[in-house]
Amino acid sequence: MPLAIAAKSPGGPDVLHALDLPTPAPSSGEVALRHTAIGVNFIDTYFRSGLYPWPVEQDLVLGSEAAGVITALGPDVAGFKIGDRVGYTIPNGAYVRERVIEARHLVALPTDIADEIAAAAMLKGLTAHYLLHRSFQVQAGQTVLFHAAAGGVGLIAGQWLAAKGVTAIGTAGGAEKCALAARHGYAHVIDYTSEGFAARVADITGGKGVDAVYDSVGKDTYPGSLKCLKTFGTLVNFGQSSGPALDFKLSDLAAGSFTVTRPVLFHFTADADYLKTASSDLFSMIENGSLKINVNQRFDLENAGDAHRALEGRKTTGSTILAP
Ligand code: NDP
Repeated sequence: MPLAIAAKSPGGPDVLHALDLPTPAPSSGEVALRHTAIGVNFIDTYFRSGLYPWPVEQDLVLGSEAAGVITALGPDVAGFKIGDRVGYTIPNGAYVRERVIEARHLVALPTDIADEIAAAAMLKGLTAHYLLHRSFQVQAGQTVLFHAAAGGVGLIAGQWLAAKGVTAIGTAGGAEKCALAARHGYAHVIDYTSEGFAARVADITGGKGVDAVYDSVGKDTYPGSLKCLKTFGTLVNFGQSSGPALDFKLSDLAAGSFTVTRPVLFHFTADADYLKTASSDLFSMIENGSLKINVNQRFDLENAGDAHRALEGRKTTGSTILAP
């Protein structure tokens, strides 16, 4: 019986428990996968806590990113065969040893992309991709601010911004995280737990402000993020690790004719062409050495609760992997 880790009901990490699920059989358009590596993401904690609505009444199997090997094909599956190595990112269902999934969500893994790297980079790397190419299309010579720069998405984004010739200013909590971010593309890193980041951004930009702020911290950073924007700048709010920014008003944008967007990865990856192109871009960047994927924490699948405690406790950097 394949092991799964599910949240019994919304709550803290203690609601996670092991379930034995029936061995899955793929229907039309689906394949069965044996997972080899599973990514942990902040979104897993949002579902677990109930911040994001549940698609089931109880026992929600968490996890939105993984790599594995195809073990069976349902009818009408084209382009894949048993034994293929694949990766994917879709909401929930990944904290399991074996699963069934629609083939349209899968991306074939190139030989040079290890399973663990794919599981560490599919969700976070494709997020960095759409943030930089769709939500606000960065151009060489621009300056942007990226919060939580030492995190999973943050370390990938910093390297990608640098590769594009963008001056990236990062924020991170503590000296060690700041030093790590500085080694991953950020030209300037601000420890926002000990200094006001808006004042530092004003210093760095000579009072002009930045072209865009990528803010996934939310409640604690939202007011300061707006202060960092230059006139006509863009705020990309893509998460809320400190809690949702509840005090947003449209009139806030009048301070500089700002643009604001609140994107979600899965709206982009629902487009099969985008999923294919963006994954190919991501894998090429990893293969040619422009992007280093940092797997800095590993846990057994059974210990997913410990992974959540570390992530929510701000104790992680880069990507976190569960071994199935
Ligand atoms: P991270 O590895 O970046 O972890 C979150 C980081 O947020 C922490 O390490 C911490 O870094 C920072 N943080 C600031 N305040 C808090 C707080 N009060 N509690 C906990 N952490 C805090 O996670 P991910 O890379 O998985 O995700 C980064 C963000 O991007 C998340 O908010 C996530 O929801 C969002 N996201 C959104 C997507 C979308 O499509 N909308 C897709 C993917 C991710 P520090 O200590 O340096 O402050």
